[in-house]
Amino acid sequence: MSICLAVDIGGTKIAAALVDCTTNHIIERHQIATPQSQQPAIFSTALTSLLMPLAPQADFVAVASTGIINHGILTALNPDNLGGLNRFELVDDIQRITQLPTHAINDAQAAAWYEFISLNSNNNATNMLFITISTGIGGGLVLNRQLQTGARGISGHIGHTVVDMNGPMCGCGRQGCIEKVASGTAIGELGSALFKRPCNGQQVYQLALEGNKDAMKIIHSSAAAVAELIANLTISLDLDAVVIGGSVGLAPHYCEYIQQYLNEKPELYRPHIIPAQSGGDAGLLGAAHWFARQENHT
Ligand SMILES: [Zn+2]
Repeated sequence: MSICLAVDIGGTKIAAALVDCTTNHIIERHQIATPQSQQPAIFSTALTSLLMPLAPQADFVAVASTGIINHGILTALNPDNLGGLNRFELVDDIQRITQLPTHAINDAQAAAWYEFISLNSNNNATNMLFITISTGIGGGLVLNRQLQTGARGISGHIGHTVVDMNGPMCGCGRQGCIEKVASGTAIGELGSALFKRPCNGQQVYQLALEGNKDAMKIIHSSAAAVAELIANLTISLDLDAVVIGGSVGLAPHYCEYIQQYLNEKPELYRPHIIPAQSGGDAGLLGAAHWFARQENHT
């Protein structure tokens, strides 16, 4: 039996779990808050305290991390997001801590792979897109049944495709990225401007659910933008399934709104829209399963 030490590095928490590669089930799981200091040494110390107790039981390490993992080095489209951790040598550092072979991919890519294998136990999808609509918008692509990570680790970063060329400036350097127009953060900003008081995306969504027509317009324009993105990618990549996740994506009726906008388009632009099933451990389990396959640990 082969055991993977899976690690999920996010903006608020770092989770680590021992995963049985034969069953892809979690044996033991621990979690810490992500250090708010962006000093590499502090981050590295936190990783050491989390991973050291688990490493002796594992055969290899599989990491799912926020940001772009370019040949093992953590980078970001918006360098401000990572501060001192931009260009952090993530794979080398974890390899040094654990003394185990270590691999890493982006967290949305890992979640996409887990959604794909979960989906395919009762579905025959070949080309699948996973979209997570939350504080930001991220994604992962599976084409010809293979997870796409890309030459530079960028594949699937659909949050930075432009939907409004005159839209707000994005931290990545472009104008009108879908993340700036349709994410939970964008919904909160649009609501704050409209209602002339600070509100977050969740509050605007709640107002929409209570029947506020202005809030409903904001939610609908988000779903319409996501539907356009799905249609563009479907006709580019011949997607047969799109899995929607994230706190906004899985909020009441949001997937139905996306479906409504897609229904207005010709059939070729309409893949199956499926709500994500896998929950909070999709990153851990997706990374473990993907790299177990690469290493023939299954
Ligand atoms: Zn952008």
